[in-house]
Amino acid sequence: MCRHLAWLGSPVSVASLVLDPPSGLLVQSYAPRRQKHGLMNADGWGVGFFDHSVPRRWRSATPLWGDASFASVAPALVSHCVVAAVRSASVGMSIEPSASAPFTDGTWLLSHNGIVDRAALPASTRAESTNDSALLAALIFDRGMDRLAETVVEVAADDPNARLNILAADGARLIATTWGDTLSVLRRDDGVVLASEPYDDDPAWQEIPDRHLVQATATCVQLTPLKGP
Ligand code: GLN
Repeated sequence: MCRHLAWLGSPVSVASLVLDPPSGLLVQSYAPRRQKHGLMNADGWGVGFFDHSVPRRWRSATPLWGDASFASVAPALVSHCVVAAVRSASVGMSIEPSASAPFTDGTWLLSHNGIVDRAALPASTRAESTNDSALLAALIFDRGMDRLAETVVEVAADDPNARLNILAADGARLIATTWGDTLSVLRRDDGVVLASEPYDDDPAWQEIPDRHLVQATATCVQLTPLKGP
């Protein structure tokens, strides 16, 4: 399992979202507060952001806390839309940069927090890696992001033990699902944050209930219940 975060709003630095907050992804990589599965997230990390409409990524298979080069550059990476994750690889999954979220189809940046039996997913030639999250991302991209809710419910029917927490952005909107793990939303004056867990103790953070679809713009957050099998 992993921890992930997305931002949509005014341009802000990647460091201000990921490294600076007292319980941001950097701290969550070794001391997550609400993670239900796994103790830490040391198997890699990824930061994706939109450069105008172009998604750009920096991914690694090493712990976020050890990357001094990223820490040096992150304050200068500024974007209106960011998707970032720290990874705890599931047993048997490869540990390599291309297995770290966010995945992309050239339009969307997408992170998966959870686990799914790879036998429940179709083989894909467009998957970026062989881990479950990369295969799931490829399936979601193939089906289309507008059908995310449907795809999650179908995969859950094929693997009832799956945990399918998706977080994605296309530069203009955020879309997420809760299916087996935590997600919180923070509405700020300058935009919106969706994160596996609050990055600080601001009382404005609100928890998203399990089995929901979340659709957000910088000013509006909409929740829809997902109907299980
Ligand atoms: N199943 C995921 C993997 O190993 C676990 C990490 C995550 O929650 N994305 O790739």
